[in-house]
Amino acid sequence: MNLIGSVSLFIFTFFSMCNAQNNSNTGKYNKLTDEETRVIINKGTERPFTGKFYSFYEEGTYTCKQCDAPLYRSTAKFDAGCGWPSFDDEIPGAVKRVTDADGSRTEILCANCGAHLGHVFLGEGFTAKNTRHCVNSVSLNFVPNNKTKVKTETAIFASGCFWGVQYQLDKAPGVIKTTVGYTGGTVKNPTYKQVCTGLTGHAEAVEVVFDPEKTNFENLCKLFFETHDPTQADGQGPDIGDQYRSEIFYLSDEQKAISEKLIGILKGKGYDVVTKLTPATTFYKAEDYHQDYYDNNGKTPYCHAYKKIF
Ligand SMILES: [Zn+2]
Repeated sequence: MNLIGSVSLFIFTFFSMCNAQNNSNTGKYNKLTDEETRVIINKGTERPFTGKFYSFYEEGTYTCKQCDAPLYRSTAKFDAGCGWPSFDDEIPGAVKRVTDADGSRTEILCANCGAHLGHVFLGEGFTAKNTRHCVNSVSLNFVPNNKTKVKTETAIFASGCFWGVQYQLDKAPGVIKTTVGYTGGTVKNPTYKQVCTGLTGHAEAVEVVFDPEKTNFENLCKLFFETHDPTQADGQGPDIGDQYRSEIFYLSDEQKAISEKLIGILKGKGYDVVTKLTPATTFYKAEDYHQDYYDNNGKTPYCHAYKKIF
């Protein structure tokens, strides 16, 4: 990534961390396709009559494509015949209005993440509220009323400097969110400085929240083994100390069994695996400046490279 890219990513992420409440407390947003980026980031407009929500009237909530913040209820949707989804009201506080770059229209943005939604027009007389939010379908997702929230699962891995572990796990398909922190020790609410002494019993670890319909613990556990050296006993790479140990903090008997199975496979291949298996206890989130460290600083890990061993 070039310098300008790194700086803008940093500013963007910093801004998100300060303001966001939804899918963004680690600065992480949903990945956008090229067309979504063109509309949401570069303030483009989708072709009229082509969007998936133009002629769409199911009951539910329209959310921000980038950050999942709820924006509009289906009860506010109406047909304006204009070619884009139209709403005569937003969920209170969800949409920000700014004067468009053309100086005349009013642009609407997701109040949570700043995603470009479209424009708002007043006084056209379509509905009693006399307001038309003209929104790109591409800027929206839809959550039906009858669908319960996506079920997620969690896994916790330690394999050395948590910056690198997070960098690798965060990119895996099906991963919703990763958080770096400390676990496995005896000190409550430890600081980085305390953990660095190697005396707290805590390991630098990464908590991974994933969508079990898109991936599973076994896939992530394989990736864990393939992005560090599970045979190194005194730390990981150049990072020496108890806090850099290789350890899986399992959250279920199933996770434990899968971990044992994979360790058995590796031992069968001649790897002298030292990875510990421990029931998960309290996971203490690390300081904000450690979260998404490599992405925020435009660097790549020195100690966690992918190597296929399964
Ligand atoms: Zn948003």
